[in-house]
Amino acid sequence: MSDVFSQAKRSEVMARIRGRGNEETEQVLARLFRKYKISGWRLHLDLPGRPDFTFPKSQVVVFVDGCFWHRCPLHSKMPRNNRGFWKKKLSANVARDKKVTRILRDNGWHVVRIWEHDLSAKPFKCVSRVSRFVGEAHKGRGSFLPADHASSPAAQKTNAF
Ligand SMILES: [Zn+2]
Repeated sequence: MSDVFSQAKRSEVMARIRGRGNEETEQVLARLFRKYKISGWRLHLDLPGRPDFTFPKSQVVVFVDGCFWHRCPLHSKMPRNNRGFWKKKLSANVARDKKVTRILRDNGWHVVRIWEHDLSAKPFKCVSRVSRFVGEAHKGRGSFLPADHASSPAAQKTNAF
């Protein structure tokens, strides 16, 4: 195989390409939140695992997991080169994801993990998985809206999906 990159260099290049992909998926979800009027989120708060999105008031964190980096069962493909390196790295990612999810849940956070591939295939489902928990806050503690607004038909419609 004629390749201009050394193995290490190629891994580095691949990592950079895929790293950029993650920012794009994050943008996709941010656009969906805006489209469906889901507000109150912050990006990259300093919590375990540095969640992509955090809704501090309703204690919801959202991770968008890239199919490659987080070994999605449908699209995970181990690179042919540097197999040992990638296997170790990606397995560590998966183990870390589990640990982070557990720590956050133990501390009272709702943890939503969204696969990159679902974001384009089932955007509505992704949003509703998040809004379910954010909606709870609307109805329960009323952290986002005044009580009279939260119980109005318009607000209920927003919470319904
Ligand atoms: Zn996938």
